[in-house]
Amino acid sequence: MELSDSMYSYRYEYDYAKVIGHCKNCGCNIHEGDEAYNFFGMYICDDCLLDFKIYS
Ligand SMILES: [Zn+2]
Repeated sequence: MELSDSMYSYRYEYDYAKVIGHCKNCGCNIHEGDEAYNFFGMYICDDCLLDFKIYS
């Protein structure tokens, strides 16, 4: 049995993930299954969430 990494790469999976919206802050694509948030209809990605934190 032979397992090839190239046959199951993350990138391959990522390309097939459905884009459900764009981050309101940075404009990046938000894919189905991503760690992301929806504030009153605006998508915010996980990276930008800290930008909305009042105290850090
Ligand atoms: Zn963002």
